[in-house]
Amino acid sequence: SIRTRFAPSPTGLFHVGSARSALFNWALARQDPQGRFVLRIEDTDVQRNRPEWTEGIIQAMAALGIHTDDPHFEGPYFQSDYAAAHREHAEWLYTQGRAYYCDCTREQVRERQDNPQLGYDGFCRDRGLEPGPGRALRFRVPDGGPTVVDDRIRGRVEFAHSSIEDFVIARADGSPLFVLANVVDDVEMRITHVIRGEEHLSNTPKQQLLWRALGHEPPVWAHLPVIVNEKRQKLSKRRDKVSLEGFLDEGYLPEAMVNYLMLLGWAPGGDQEIMPWSEMEQLFDISEVNSSSAFFDEKKLRAFNGEYIRALSTEEFVRRCQPWLHGESAPWPAENYDDAAFRDLAPLAQTRVALLSEIVANVDFLFLDEPVEDEKSWSKAMKPGIGEPMLSATLDRFADAELAWEPEALKAALEEVGAELGLKLGKAQAPVRVAVTGRTVGLPLFESLAVLGRERTRERLRRALD
Ligand code: GLU
Repeated sequence: SIRTRFAPSPTGLFHVGSARSALFNWALARQDPQGRFVLRIEDTDVQRNRPEWTEGIIQAMAALGIHTDDPHFEGPYFQSDYAAAHREHAEWLYTQGRAYYCDCTREQVRERQDNPQLGYDGFCRDRGLEPGPGRALRFRVPDGGPTVVDDRIRGRVEFAHSSIEDFVIARADGSPLFVLANVVDDVEMRITHVIRGEEHLSNTPKQQLLWRALGHEPPVWAHLPVIVNEKRQKLSKRRDKVSLEGFLDEGYLPEAMVNYLMLLGWAPGGDQEIMPWSEMEQLFDISEVNSSSAFFDEKKLRAFNGEYIRALSTEEFVRRCQPWLHGESAPWPAENYDDAAFRDLAPLAQTRVALLSEIVANVDFLFLDEPVEDEKSWSKAMKPGIGEPMLSATLDRFADAELAWEPEALKAALEEVGAELGLKLGKAQAPVRVAVTGRTVGLPLFESLAVLGRERTRERLRRALD
């Protein structure tokens, strides 16, 4: 049965490229009823690992629907728990003659070679050194021929053995190198498919040599295309927005992220791009993945997100907005939040926002004590001869207790007021909108006024006139 694995190093936030690898591995494992997706935390770089990053990875995966309690999920395993096995395998390779000890210092290696690109020259290959202090263990790369990596995405990739140095598998202090630990774990965990980023392709011939030397057929390899920004540069965490957590915090829906990430290098066929995970995971096929780089197009992701938001039930939309309406991120005091008022406007907001975080600017006029101040909007709407007369006439008109406080009536009232001043509705409502909401654009005005209420609306008009 299929056993895939996802093997992150917990050294930072969850990169969107890692998220894609996790999803591809997850889809493949779930296509087989007996399939397993193994999570292995590669935590042997003690300088750079932190337990909170591991926690973060597990949470971010859960947000994408990869749950530790799913029957297809196995682990998490921690690479650091298997150090003894890594050492044993290293020693076994030595006893089999597949690896040898080497006491050359870096300087010695450098002095002996004219071309630093060439790497280690095999000086200790036949010296028959016993294990001992200051001696590293090197893998004996076969002399003739190439190693051919049969990659599901890239096809056959040849690596001449003459270009692969006898690489170190255990340091002089006995600690195994990553290349060995990674293979030993994959062998021991009976991994059948290694699906990971392209940056690991150059390591693959060494790993394949190790698999065979350990007496196993290598797994299916699949190296995913790099993800690039609009300048065709590989996404980098210093320059680009890359963390899944960051996107979720901005109000991207997890299901929109999943959908978009699945399309980075793969497409379900036809021209359908918006597709629920349940269908995508059935259709996913690793050999259909494209080898050319995948453009991370945030505009497109935004558009996807808007579509996913509009597809939610209103109830669900209201629920998803809650984190932005409460607590620290909300710009108003917690006690100002009025759930009934929000629910009244939610359906209108739902058709307009592309990100959940945009909900705040759409409804803040309801919950802030005073509307936001924005000079640009103000000067745009409060033109001389329009702003003040419009506001004072509206203030009077809205004082009329006979005026029903509902959208239709408010619209008619404002139309009348505007007409008296020779203004069309569009022009006439701008000063009122800015006085009440602080902004020139927003939710439909009359619905907004209806929810805000007569008293608060009039108070804002009055204050704007001061
Ligand atoms: N721990 C490695 C990384 O995060 C993954 C190696 C692999 O997938 O084989 O880059």
